[in-house]
Amino acid sequence: MKLTYKTIELDLEFPFRISRGEKFVSKTIITQLEHTYNGQTYFGFGEAVFSEFYGENEDSVSKAYKHIIKDGILQNIDLFNEQELQRRIGSFGGNYAAKAGLNIALYDLRAKVLGLPLYKFLGSDKTKAPQSSYTIGIADKETIVQKVKTALDRNYKILKVKLGSSEDLEMLKTIRSLAPQATIRVDANAAWTYDEAIELIDEIKSLDIEFVEEPLKLDSSEEAYEKLFHKSPIPLMADESCKRLADIEKCSKYFHMVNFKLTKTGGISETLRMIHAARALDLRIMLGCFTETNISISAMASLSPLVDYADLDGSLLLSNDPYQNQLFQGNQICLSDKLGLGIDLPSII
Ligand SMILES: [Mg+2]
Repeated sequence: MKLTYKTIELDLEFPFRISRGEKFVSKTIITQLEHTYNGQTYFGFGEAVFSEFYGENEDSVSKAYKHIIKDGILQNIDLFNEQELQRRIGSFGGNYAAKAGLNIALYDLRAKVLGLPLYKFLGSDKTKAPQSSYTIGIADKETIVQKVKTALDRNYKILKVKLGSSEDLEMLKTIRSLAPQATIRVDANAAWTYDEAIELIDEIKSLDIEFVEEPLKLDSSEEAYEKLFHKSPIPLMADESCKRLADIEKCSKYFHMVNFKLTKTGGISETLRMIHAARALDLRIMLGCFTETNISISAMASLSPLVDYADLDGSLLLSNDPYQNQLFQGNQICLSDKLGLGIDLPSII
């Protein structure tokens, strides 16, 4: 099995600001696995969406892949021996974005070999795919108005609003007045102290907010998390607090919902395990993303019928996604019956 990869630069339609900072362009690493099965050659595509916040960057992903190629980790491998694939990919520590880039490509490859779209290979029912939200980053009032109008013009009915600035309440009131029918969720990206969180959550409860994502600063005490969990009139969702399987049990004590992303989980295999664990603990589940192309968005979209919510607008926020596959009608996820991820290109590197 041959691994190749390349970095591409993604342009954002609007500058994107959250409580931790602002960006205008984003880089991502695209992976391709080439494999001959029963005499026929197949290509599987993946994506490593690295994030400095989670300790990964272009260099660390590239180093991990060089190591895999140099040490022949993917040589003489049985494509359908999941246990062995997991052992080999797991043999390089950490590097969850890099692992996701490989894991997604392996799933794409296996589904293509079997002649199935990925959602069928995963056993999900495409008629159960949820609608995705569209993210409104932190911005001045004029930009917010423009973004909300763009979202409504495109028939997006669920807005996810980034909070964590001094204008939070005013920004949300503006958005609610522009979009009285929309479902609105908010995400503080771990910006608030307990006192700031409970005060703002009390102020916004009359604005019909569906849930609040990661309200507290990550160094908050367990007492603060527990108190907010019991006092908040709006359900709380874990994102930065919930990276992998081992985090879920703790999250079930302080949150009502969890948000999984391929960058954090290391791929489809771990995300599937996390979905089962979260279900067992009665947590509601959202699948989320960073700014990323339709390769990794399609991977999560294929899992989306298994969960409650989707925040898979990463490619909708781009102005130059090279991998088009008509995944959305408005904000409804529409899974195609093309093979694998549904990216209809023979080879991409
Ligand atoms: Mg979040």
